[in-house]
Amino acid sequence: MSTKEGKRGRVCQECGRVIPRGRKDKRFCSATCKNRWHYREEGWLKGVKTKIVRTLDRNRAILDKLLQEGVTSIEIPDLAQMGYNFDCVTSYHRVRNHDEYRCYDIKYYMSGSRVFRIMRHLFPPQPSVSSDP
Ligand SMILES: [Zn+2]
Repeated sequence: MSTKEGKRGRVCQECGRVIPRGRKDKRFCSATCKNRWHYREEGWLKGVKTKIVRTLDRNRAILDKLLQEGVTSIEIPDLAQMGYNFDCVTSYHRVRNHDEYRCYDIKYYMSGSRVFRIMRHLFPPQPSVSSDP
């Protein structure tokens, strides 16, 4: 946090004006400035989150398409060419000297040049078999 405090007192984080004495939150000169600042910060974070979720969704769609085509191994540059973003995964594990990555319900292993053993590790729940109507 970088609330500047000069000789004249603290300065508003939003507009840079000197904050009147006696305010409880000393970061802003007014409620309007406080609201503006939070709106901008939250808007920025929302944008970051949306971008990550979209990238994850695209990555999953690419992996899903490969699985539907029966592809379980692919060269890294080929996967990158399809638009896969290697920076976005939902988890990473080190499993017996292999790097295992997960993108939602699909996992894969990665060596220096290849992505291999692409497979689903989570499956949708099956409709429960019941004799009741
Ligand atoms: Zn202000």
